[in-house]
Amino acid sequence: MTRPSKMQPVSSPLDRQAACPSCGATITFKFAGARAVVCEYCKFAIARTDRGLHPIGRMAELLEIPTPLQVGVTGTWGEEQFEVEGRIQMDRAGAPGAPWQEILVAFPMSGRSTWVAYAQGRWYATNDAELPPGGVPAISALGPGSDVDLGPHGTWVVSEVGQRRVVSGEGAMTTVPTPGVVTRYADISAQGGGFGTIDYGDGTQQPELYLGRQFDPRSLQLDSGLPLEAPEGKAAVVECPNCGGDLPLLSQQAERIICQYCGTASDVREGNLAALGPAPRPPIQPYVPIGAEGDVRGEHYTVCGFVIRSCMVEGVVYSWREYLLFGGDHVGYRWLMEEDGKWSFAESVEAGDVTDLGNMAMLGGRPHNFKQQVQAKVDYVVGEFYWKIEIGETVDATEFQGPDGKLSRERTATEVNYSFVTPLAPHELQAFGVAPPAGAGLIGAGFGGDDEEAGGCRNILGTVVTIIIVIIWVMMEVDGCGGFVGGGYSGGGWSK
Ligand SMILES: [Zn+2]
Ligand SMILES: [Zn+2]
Repeated sequence: MTRPSKMQPVSSPLDRQAACPSCGATITFKFAGARAVVCEYCKFAIARTDRGLHPIGRMAELLEIPTPLQVGVTGTWGEEQFEVEGRIQMDRAGAPGAPWQEILVAFPMSGRSTWVAYAQGRWYATNDAELPPGGVPAISALGPGSDVDLGPHGTWVVSEVGQRRVVSGEGAMTTVPTPGVVTRYADISAQGGGFGTIDYGDGTQQPELYLGRQFDPRSLQLDSGLPLEAPEGKAAVVECPNCGGDLPLLSQQAERIICQYCGTASDVREGNLAALGPAPRPPIQPYVPIGAEGDVRGEHYTVCGFVIRSCMVEGVVYSWREYLLFGGDHVGYRWLMEEDGKWSFAESVEAGDVTDLGNMAMLGGRPHNFKQQVQAKVDYVVGEFYWKIEIGETVDATEFQGPDGKLSRERTATEVNYSFVTPLAPHELQAFGVAPPAGAGLIGAGFGGDDEEAGGCRNILGTVVTIIIVIIWVMMEVDGCGGFVGGGYSGGGWSK
């Protein structure tokens, strides 16, 4: 394609083709519902209004985020033909290392369109939705876990409030992007996979509402015949900026790595590590080593991180250990938890699937009764994490006991994350190539017995051994305070 002359006549803004007001090249509004396009030549986002075309700002170069839904790809979704018209790439304020993207899929027959996103094995589609007659609450009135009454759209739950910015994009958009400008948003969730975002922009315009849900990728066929599966990211090896050690980089979502050899904490930036500083070394080795692989409940996982967390109850410190498992991009993350020799397995639950009444919570139609609430603090950390984990970061951790396991709620000022925690049988742990831990040093007795209590900061009657060891850790930590710096805790799970 050759670049057209700037002498080309300027067309009316409603024509399919027009001259870019920034560089003069031809831009095409192929999709009637597009409110903006990105000029292929100058990368400016160009808004279309009834008064003409306006350059909004220059997009950065597209980031390498693989997707089978490239602009121009066609197929059938349900019974309807579609074409991919655009994509937009964003990151969270304070987390430039973890961008994500949304794809604009348009249906030429009906003129409809939908935004598609993929994260941790799940596909989401959201559509522009009308604001309820009474509008939406101010973002200052929303907090993680709060209900939002969206009138005709029902009641939703806020899973996260935050700040983000548009980084890059291509093709058409049904919204006008403002590259580089920090905007505020609330992610919301509803029963049965409902997912949405209230986009508050920079506060100068009316909020925009996007509602949708998870969908089954098998409902969508590409004309190319290729499966709708995001290409699995390749595990890479990165070098520790301090000791030069080879560290695996398992996930494209990894944001922070704490070197298992020298303890240096680094942020992941465009596939490389930028050192932040030393983190104190954990006083014990992970029982399941980082890098160990095993199959649990039908999925294959690699241990990618190890965290020692603690809480204080009536002046006594209780400590437990958590292992972050990565099951590949299609599966995402799980946790192994170890406390007093008892192991459990934790999987995340969408906030919208929980009805949280404070003293009890409903999940899957079953009541889970409030058990306890503590401030859980990160004491030591090694390995690869999908958020900017920091020593000393705390969450409000609450547990609800149900008939089949525990519902755990972790809340910060900006996010709420639920997970369902079930006991792990000894053979499930042995899948990672470790011996049954009974009698192993710190682990204590009682592993895998009939006791259903497992994991988390809940065993207030923890063993004396643990308490003594924790006291020693605390003493050791006195001169090791400070840790490393970085962005705030950004919790778990995926968000738009
Ligand atoms: Zn241009
Ligand atoms: Zn190192």
